[in-house]
Amino acid sequence: MNKRLLAFLLVFILIFSFAASCDFAPTVDVGSQASSAAESRTASSAASSAISSQAGAHVSSEESASENESRLLVVSFIDVGQGDGILIRTPDDKFILVDCGPAEAEKSFIAFLKSQNVREFEYVFFTHPHADHIGNAVKVLQEFKVKNVYMPDAATTTKTFTNLLNELDKQKDIKITQAKAGQKITVGEVNIDILSPSKDKYGDLNEYSIVFKLTYKENSILFTGDAYIKNEKEMIAASYDLKADILKVGHHGSDSSTSTEFLNAVQPKYAVISCGLDNSFGHPHKSTLERIASAGAKIYRTDNDGTITLYANGVEIVIKSEK
Ligand SMILES: [Zn+2]
Ligand SMILES: [Zn+2]
Repeated sequence: MNKRLLAFLLVFILIFSFAASCDFAPTVDVGSQASSAAESRTASSAASSAISSQAGAHVSSEESASENESRLLVVSFIDVGQGDGILIRTPDDKFILVDCGPAEAEKSFIAFLKSQNVREFEYVFFTHPHADHIGNAVKVLQEFKVKNVYMPDAATTTKTFTNLLNELDKQKDIKITQAKAGQKITVGEVNIDILSPSKDKYGDLNEYSIVFKLTYKENSILFTGDAYIKNEKEMIAASYDLKADILKVGHHGSDSSTSTEFLNAVQPKYAVISCGLDNSFGHPHKSTLERIASAGAKIYRTDNDGTITLYANGVEIVIKSEK
């Protein structure tokens, strides 16, 4: 037998025994989902091993694959163009959605959620009633079971927002909560602390943005919607523990947000900006990028990097981007 044939046979046996040892059954329903379930599992397995090797874990690879995978927090900052759409999968496989992008991104956004095997959301946050954050809200409520919705006590007269209210009115079994600083949510080992809005009235819809800190063991992420420097000042004045590994940069990197004082309080290792390529607002603004760079955070941007996904095991975080 020549060497090439022997190598080929060896690879074939390895692939076959790996496939035989994988148990996709619990997540497989029908054909198309089978492949996406396998893909998403493979992606998180790869991240598990990456985290294991980074963290210097000394468990055997078999153990780390099964144990770490079920203990990962996965957050995807979905490329929705100009807007925000963030999917969170908790380590115990519950889904949380933070905004849902503009209507223009409907097809790819809903397709992404389905590719991640989302069937129901434990919590959906509509951070504020702008169309680049709630553009696909009705579609989300119709396509997936939603248990809880958090939204600020803010209203506008746009069709997008009115349609959302009408849909919520139809779906009587969704629990709706007006978000307010000081509220706490627990999903398994994941804790969510709502830090803004703290006042009843603001001048601009962006200032009503729900800001929350999500903590999983030693890892934390700060979600800011389109909150302004005014809100950042309020959160600093309230002496909240704002320190977080990852900062979802406020208002698509606009100069209206992300002050140096706020960055000093958050001390992020990574900053994620969700914005559209060549958007008409000029987001992210150069001055914001400079402030973030001076704060020493590595910047990821959906306009350049595509969908950005982070995997956290409670100690280490691995970030992977689509592009
Ligand atoms: Zn926005
Ligand atoms: Zn906005």
